[in-house]
Amino acid sequence: MIARVSLEIALRKEFDYLIPAALAGQVDVGSRVQVPFGPRKMLGVVTAVAEESGRVNLKPILKVIGAQTLVTPKVLQLARWIADYYCCAPETALKSVLPEAVRKEDAGWRERLFVRVLPVIGEMSKLPKRQQDVWNFISERREMPLAELVALAKTTAATVRKLEDCGRVKITAEVSERDPYSRETILPSQPLVLNPSQVAALGKITAAMDAPPPTADASAPSSTFLLYGVTGSGKTEIYLQAIAHALEQGKGAIVLVPEIALTPQTVERFKARFSSGKLQTLVAVLHSHLSAGERHDEWHKIRQGRARIVIGARSAIFAPVEPLGLIIVDEEHEHTYKQEEAPRYQARDVAIMRGRMENAVVVLGSATPSLESYANCKKGKYTLLELPERVDDQKMPVVRIVDMRQAARGDKGPPIFSPQLKEAITQRLERKEQTILFLNRRGYSTSLQCPKCGYVAECPNCSLALTYHRAEQKLSCHICGHSEKVPSVCPNEKCRNPAIRFAGTGTQKVEAILGKLFPQARIQRMDADVMKRKEDYRRALGDFRTGKTDILIGTQMIAKGLHFPRVTLVGIIYADMALHQPDFRAAERTFQLITQVSGRAGRGDIEGEVFVQTFTPFHPAIQCSRHHDFVGFYEQEIEFREQLKYPPFSRVALLTLKGRNEEKVVFSAEHLKRELEKKLVATGPDRRSAGTAGGVANLLPAADMFADAAAPEVRPDQKMKNLFRDLVIAGPTPSPLLRAENYYRYQIMLRTRAMSALSRELAKIVQSLALPEDVTLAVDIDPASLS
Ligand SMILES: [Zn+2]
Ligand SMILES: [Zn+2]
Repeated sequence: MIARVSLEIALRKEFDYLIPAALAGQVDVGSRVQVPFGPRKMLGVVTAVAEESGRVNLKPILKVIGAQTLVTPKVLQLARWIADYYCCAPETALKSVLPEAVRKEDAGWRERLFVRVLPVIGEMSKLPKRQQDVWNFISERREMPLAELVALAKTTAATVRKLEDCGRVKITAEVSERDPYSRETILPSQPLVLNPSQVAALGKITAAMDAPPPTADASAPSSTFLLYGVTGSGKTEIYLQAIAHALEQGKGAIVLVPEIALTPQTVERFKARFSSGKLQTLVAVLHSHLSAGERHDEWHKIRQGRARIVIGARSAIFAPVEPLGLIIVDEEHEHTYKQEEAPRYQARDVAIMRGRMENAVVVLGSATPSLESYANCKKGKYTLLELPERVDDQKMPVVRIVDMRQAARGDKGPPIFSPQLKEAITQRLERKEQTILFLNRRGYSTSLQCPKCGYVAECPNCSLALTYHRAEQKLSCHICGHSEKVPSVCPNEKCRNPAIRFAGTGTQKVEAILGKLFPQARIQRMDADVMKRKEDYRRALGDFRTGKTDILIGTQMIAKGLHFPRVTLVGIIYADMALHQPDFRAAERTFQLITQVSGRAGRGDIEGEVFVQTFTPFHPAIQCSRHHDFVGFYEQEIEFREQLKYPPFSRVALLTLKGRNEEKVVFSAEHLKRELEKKLVATGPDRRSAGTAGGVANLLPAADMFADAAAPEVRPDQKMKNLFRDLVIAGPTPSPLLRAENYYRYQIMLRTRAMSALSRELAKIVQSLALPEDVTLAVDIDPASLS
């Protein structure tokens, strides 16, 4: 027998190996194996097993890793789709479906020594005092880990060994599972009574779960749902009850949440519901803050079928849950579902594909759905479920827009706190209620400028201004981590002005000013600078919950997943920040962020109030968030997307070229552009007329502008030409962040409806493309951002 193996190097090629007699019966599709490759030994995954190979002189597999096949056939199929659609090497896709701790051989189960009391035979001999003390201790408890016994009985391992020698106890090594949540006390919870809209939504989901698997014809009802519920409308309770339904059917569930929302609070809700009762099961948790060992154990609990529910960030979509009944993607609009390095998959879309492959129902949940998902409901591809009200008669918070242009009148520029927000904070402090202040920028000041010569301190490696961190007295780059001392005079040789100035506001400055305005307030800042360890985060939230903190200031770290009943005020310090990003999703992001952050207010009995400080108060993203009007926002925004043929009216592929030599990068980008046109763009009389996207120079459908440049003698075949009729090729243009970590970046953007077909063509073009050695190309299908 032979096995076909995909190795862990991106060769886009599989290799055949002999299955030696000694390993017969152990090698199957999905097995992790070690094989010889040239002079080296390498790890890989078996993708097929066959009687014979077309090749001769095959080398044998050296070793099988793990007692079970690690990649299930269904996950293997999913990995192949990812390689195909996201235009990456199959090896890269396959590698990403297993956590590193599982893939590598070295992480394994942890063994611990356990002490167990043996049955007494005959009369017990008398023990010396120290052994007798230990015996008294262990004989009551019957068994416990050796380390624990030594600590609790204040003894030594040697003394316990003596008890073993005289036949009283036995010490054995046993697998001890690491439980990342062992320190939490979790009280079981019962299903809550649902309100009518929750009942209706849950009913549709469970009906789809009960329906027979769809037949080949396309008339089958959709099994993807978009659960659009305002913040606090009880989406999680629907998830919990739908999961219970899956368990009743003998199936498991995967719950994806953004990494940032994976707080102990969220995990606890799922564990609490399924920790007891007839549906009891382990809930495995997968995210980046686990140790390698914890990740190994959590993953294997799933593979062994002991944990039937998985809750995790992006990569949990590959969890080997079998059979799978339900996939939930909470906060489906979150761009963190997109992986930023290869394979550049979008976990929400992978979830929908996996659901289709395994006949699992998929529920996408959000208070601010992505335009793509909402448009899919309108097209009938997904079923829309709505929860228009908060549970328990909680009211939506009142949102007040504060025009900072008015607050700025005077010579000193705008203050950080408008008089309205200041007044509101004062009230909350008097009433002993809590406040959350949001600013998505850490540091003290966001730039250092010289008012005399215009000098701005920039990172030497990136095209980005340095941020001032006052506590450390340093300027630092938030892209590459470069940091330097704060100059005392303007570094410009000709200027040397001692009066250089800091400009812009970060969370550190908000904290400092707030401390001056309200010296009696207890303030906690939460951002990446102060929350360095898991413990910091837990403690800060604990203090806020127990009322030891009055005001929480934070970056997006506090934007979601937090439910504190005493928070009645939310202040968004600078709401326009995301609006000024050079990205077609800038308005959507802004609307989502304001709505999500606002949703932290009024989660208890007292109505919440939100102050949105802005310099563009009439922008639709801001006006619509005032009335929690997602549909209104959608209708305005969708028009702009349609005009410019942006998603959801097309899909985007972003090709980014990167290198240290700017000229070479530009040259390579232009070369690539010509190749794309040669292979994909139809020439001749029937090509489509110029696009309608006038005015936005960088975003023009450049395929039309470059019509003459396309070599006329190479004509794509008729079929492909028709397939890519709507193709728009824009660029090359400098990336919004032109230089990062000393690399220059240029990009080409392609837009088409036929993305699966385009991906396949791109894979061929990219592979045959000759680029200079020091220029690399990244292909990003459905990018989350254009930077
Ligand atoms: Zn200067
Ligand atoms: Zn930098």
